[in-house]
Amino acid sequence: MSSSARIDWAARAAACLAAGLDGRALIDGRRQAAQDGQTFLKRSPVDGRALGEVARGQAADVDAAVRAARTAFADGRWAGRPPAARKRVMQAFADKVLAAREELALLETLDMGKPIAHSLAVDVPSTARTLAWYGEAVDKVYGEIAPTGPSALALISREPVGVVGAIVPWNYPMIMAAWKLGPALAAGNSVVLKPSEKSPYTALRLAELALEAGLPPGVFNVVPGYGPEAGEALARHMDVDVLGFTGSTRVGRHMLVCAGQSNLKRVYNELGGKSAFLVFPDTPDLDRCAQTLAGSIFFNQGESCNAPSRVLVQADIAEDFGRRVAAEAPKYQPADPLDPSTVMGALVDEGQLRTVLGYIEAGRAEGAQCLAGGRQARAESGGVYVEPTVFAGAHNGMSIAREEIFGPVVTLIPFRDEAEALALANDSPYGLQASVWTGGLDRAHRVARALQAGTVHVNQYDEDDLTVPFGGVKQSGNGRDKSLHAFDKVTELKTTWIRLG
Ligand code: NAD
Repeated sequence: MSSSARIDWAARAAACLAAGLDGRALIDGRRQAAQDGQTFLKRSPVDGRALGEVARGQAADVDAAVRAARTAFADGRWAGRPPAARKRVMQAFADKVLAAREELALLETLDMGKPIAHSLAVDVPSTARTLAWYGEAVDKVYGEIAPTGPSALALISREPVGVVGAIVPWNYPMIMAAWKLGPALAAGNSVVLKPSEKSPYTALRLAELALEAGLPPGVFNVVPGYGPEAGEALARHMDVDVLGFTGSTRVGRHMLVCAGQSNLKRVYNELGGKSAFLVFPDTPDLDRCAQTLAGSIFFNQGESCNAPSRVLVQADIAEDFGRRVAAEAPKYQPADPLDPSTVMGALVDEGQLRTVLGYIEAGRAEGAQCLAGGRQARAESGGVYVEPTVFAGAHNGMSIAREEIFGPVVTLIPFRDEAEALALANDSPYGLQASVWTGGLDRAHRVARALQAGTVHVNQYDEDDLTVPFGGVKQSGNGRDKSLHAFDKVTELKTTWIRLG
């Protein structure tokens, strides 16, 4: 048994809340209340208890943060440091995150409901790895010399953009923050981060740990608050150079409007998904396929942008495959997120619960067959939980097939042949990820090539690595997080001509 598994997390949570959580913004290296003193009450979806009051940032707070970020950028306190020095700070930041592993994991679980085992094993280490990986990349991105004529030299350099605004969702609060922070800081930018009002605490703690690691004040600022207030002020700010947005397609669309109506800042949207999972009859191991599907769709309570929520399965094996998936579902029955053996936790809040239950009701009403789950769970806990739910016999026109549910609900749709499978898979406004299951190498390549998605998996779904870009096509977004490609978002290419004659 690991040392974390022996911890009494309920007692830790009680002690942590008795000590009080600091929900104030972190601007210019200092914790501060919102300028107008407003706060909002944050509750835990684990059991409904109050976690504390959080600063309700407004335009004035965002403006103070952007001004601090601009000053920090302009005076070169970060961008002007030698790369080796910046690398050391980012690696110290990653080390601080790992050293605070239990504290951060507990905050993440209390804030948004995921199992403590996942916060410990996935969210904290992945956050630290991202910061360290981009820290290591500080001196791995070079400029170019263009092959121009003999009378002049053209240097193409990558410059930091200046002030990066980042708006992130609540499903992986720390990881999403790190995906924005890592490349932005490594390239020398300053950052103003607006975490989701549903999960503000770990972002605020990350900013404190960054300061402790030696990141100069003003380089990384966090302003908590509501989307239409703090978020919108950041999106419309005239002195933010680039906006990195991760969230819903609805709000991502609005971010483009805000940029268009302000300073035409570049907007990189990482948005929703309805990822297709195609199961052909020559799949070598249908059990492994069903297990991978269940593990992927029910992970993080189904609150993952890339969750394989739309399963296209060949009609001859649809019934058999549906039985196998339904048999997996009970293994993900939600339980207390603070119990280290729990594999599925709470949804983020009451609103999300209503949304998910609404889709389940719609699925039934539209004629899909509910093979497993379909009900609220653990209501007596005071928290918000839903059973892992499997629908079969659906068609691509149903709301449970078209819309992002963002909960533990998977929809199985039969197809006749490969052409129909591809047509159905691509008949979606989204294009984040897809997965093809087949024993045929030629089919795997043919289908992977034709699928409209930023990432296609073949006979798996769970491989992931920082070296590969993450992002979508169509209404799933236009940017790429992770990998060296993320530097494209937070740097400008600059050309310098030098006369040689
Ligand atoms: P959301 O769009 O409601 O909110 C995301 C962020 O935007 C939050 O910080 C919110 O406060 C802010 N916001 C809301 N309204 C705003 C406004 N008018 N102006 C500025 N900011 C505003 O999304 P959510 O419910 O927090 O997150 C779930 C969504 O995120 C899902 O659609 C999911 O697929 C998507 N997501 C995508 C990725 C990806 O990499 N593609 C990763 C994680 C989550």
